[in-house]
Parts: sequence; structure tokens; C-alpha cells
Amino acid sequence: MDHFLYRDGALFAEDVAVADIAASVGTPFYVYSTATLERHYRLFEEALAGMPHLVCYAMKANSNLAVIRTLGNLGAGMDVVSIGEYLKAKAAGVPGDRIVFSGVGKTADEMRTALTGGIRQFNVESEPELLALNAVAMSLDQTAPVTIRVNPDVDAKTHEKIATGRKEDKFGIPISRARAIYAEAAALPGIEVVGIDVHIGSQLTDLAPFEQAYGKIAELTRQLRADGHNIRRLDLGGGLGIPYERSNSAPPLPLDYGAVIKRTLGDLDCEIEIEPGRLIAGNAGLLVSKVIYVKSGEDRKFLILDSAMNDLVRPSMYGSHHDIVPVNEPGPGLEPQPFDVVGPVCESGDTFAKQRLLPPVAAGDLVAFRSAGAYGAVMASEYNSRPLIPEVLVKGDQFAVIRARPSYDAMINRDSIPEWL
Ligand SMILES: *Cc1c(COP(=O)(O)O)cnc(C)c1O
Repeated sequence: MDHFLYRDGALFAEDVAVADIAASVGTPFYVYSTATLERHYRLFEEALAGMPHLVCYAMKANSNLAVIRTLGNLGAGMDVVSIGEYLKAKAAGVPGDRIVFSGVGKTADEMRTALTGGIRQFNVESEPELLALNAVAMSLDQTAPVTIRVNPDVDAKTHEKIATGRKEDKFGIPISRARAIYAEAAALPGIEVVGIDVHIGSQLTDLAPFEQAYGKIAELTRQLRADGHNIRRLDLGGGLGIPYERSNSAPPLPLDYGAVIKRTLGDLDCEIEIEPGRLIAGNAGLLVSKVIYVKSGEDRKFLILDSAMNDLVRPSMYGSHHDIVPVNEPGPGLEPQPFDVVGPVCESGDTFAKQRLLPPVAAGDLVAFRSAGAYGAVMASEYNSRPLIPEVLVKGDQFAVIRARPSYDAMINRDSIPEWL
């Protein structure tokens, strides 16, 4: 459920007409709904009620400071995958003891900054990382709280590029080697083992892979405890999918996901952490764009928009579907027509949708991509020297620009020309 609904034929973000935002900030832009962000966060809170837990929002889905602050104000923790995200979380007011640090390539500098600034735990992904963290912690006279990410060799049955829990994926340590590596970790003076971490992939639309992975984690918890480790925290990653197509059957709800966690891990007396990103931010955002031209090709019509793959790369990168809707609801009785929806970037990959059935649209009309709040703005680039587009946050009848559109001068002046030229 989201808060982007039509009122009298006009698309609203909560109580603000999307067309009014467009008139104020220009197109294209991203717009996020506070109510949807908050609702999705609370769904996870409710799903884990009764167990000690922390919902750590996976910031990589949408790391705008205002989005982080919105969730942080509700008590959310943060899952960060770079020191840049860590510093953003801190800048948004999230305390270090609610930040977990994931990722396969943490550098010693990143570790030092996080240890100095305060961190809930490092989710360590390899033996060399463990040794590097030990050295950094010892140099600071600290001990680093650590979970070790295990790779349970479970196929998340999702897109190739976002499956992370199979043995051929780069993430975590093989579960078969876990006991040996935990023994090694326990002997390191700069390391304090606090738990286990797992994350098997993104946009999962079936609970079975979670159930399988978490079952293996339950077994490993018992084994590691028998080996003498104080396993008291289980970080279960993110990955719950969202409905990108309204017409399709809906993926499982957070409540059902919570039930899987309770069933598989509920009797272990562990604190549970989860790291949802997409489900919190995805359907809390729209990308709003204007039609520049409607062009008739030999056998098809192209809808040429002012947004492009550099603004929203998911369709060209993953072949993803985003529902596209007109900002002004079409009148009754208008037959939908097939369009290829494309951007102005100079490559054919800059295609949002092929032969998409849309109501008749004309140059100047506004359209909105749904489900664009996660992995949208954060993956944008300035390819084709198109400045990053603004982000807007709505709350009730208010809206605010939370990232301004840079001027062309600002974009140009980021480069510099050496003296010898
Ligand atoms: C990407 C990622 C997440 C979030 O995944 P979603 O599918 O957005 O919920 C959580 N944890 C880790 C370690 C990740 O890499």
C-alpha cells in the first residue's frame, strides 16, 4: 500500500498534487511519501513484535538524509555498506550503536572511522577482513563487535545480479567453514563475536529461501554455542520483495516474513536484526517525468520522456518493470495504446518499457513511474551530462526539496582543466 492516489482525476502524493510539485521544481524529479516510509517501517516492527529486535534500514536503497532522518526518528537502525553511508547516517542523527556495517570490501580506513565514531557491529565477510579489523581495533585499543556473514548456499530465486546467497556469489564465508572461522575469531584480541549474519538476496517474492536459510542459521547457532561462542544476535539481512506490477500477485507480507523468523529462530533467545531496504523505500517513491515528444516509428509509437536511464537505471540494468501512470487520470472510454517508453540518452538501452499499454498521452503530459523510491535516485548518474534530478519529500500537505537540482554551472565546475591545457 502507498499514499499515491488519484483525487478527482489528479495524482496526489499524500495531500499534495503531483502536478503542483512539478510546477514548483520542474521535471523530472523523485518524490517520496513520509506516510508510506513510516508505514512500511512499522510493518516490520509489528512483524517482529514479541522478539527483541532492531530493524536496520538498508540505506543503499535510498540514502537521502531526510529519508534516513524520517526512519531514524522512529527508532530505526541503519545497515550501511560504505563509510559514506555511515557518515550520512550519523549526519542524519542516527547513533552509532544503531548502525551495522555490511559489505565485502571494507577498508582499514573505513573500519577506523566506524570504530572511532561508534558502531553496533561489523558484519564481517571474509577471513582477511577479520584479520584487518582485528589489527585496526587493536591499534585503537578497542574490541570490534562482530557477526560473521555466512553464505548458506541457498538460491533466492531472484534476478541473477541481486542473488547473494549461493556458493558462487562473492558474499560471506561458506557455511561449511563457519565453525573454523568462528574459532579463529574467538582467538583474536581485537574481535568480540556477538552473532551471525546472513543476507541471501534482494526482491525475493517467495518465503521458502528465507525459511531454508534461517533454518541453517538456527542449526549453526546451536553448533557455535556448543563450541563455546556467545551467539546472542542474529542479523538476517533484507531482501523481501515488493509488488512492482499492480496486476501481478503480491509478494509475501512482512507479517508472514516475521512468522518465518519466529518459527525458525524464535526459540534461540537471540536479538534479531533485519535489514530491509526495498520494501521500506520502494513503493514510497515516484519518478515524475514529462513527455517531450510522441514519435511515430515504422511500426510503433515512442513516448520520449525527459527522464532517462541515468535517472532510473533499473529497467536497463535489470530489465525491471515499473508501472507507468499518467499524472492526470485519463477520461473514461479512452483505449490504451502500446508505446515504447524511452529517454533521451543516446543508446538503445535507454528504454523504460517496450510496447507498454498506456492511455493516450501527448507532449507536455506528466507521467509517473511507480515503485521508484528504492534503487532509483541512489543509482542515478550524470551520464550524457544530465545533472542529477531533485528529490522531494511529502508529509501530509507539505512538501520540501530534499536534494536540489544542481545548476549546469555546478555540474561543469566540478571538473577542472589542468594548467598545461
Ligand atoms: C542490499 C542489502 C540489503 C537490502 O536489500 P533489500 O532487498 O533492499 O531489502 C540488506 N542487507 C545487505 C547486506 C544488502 O547488501
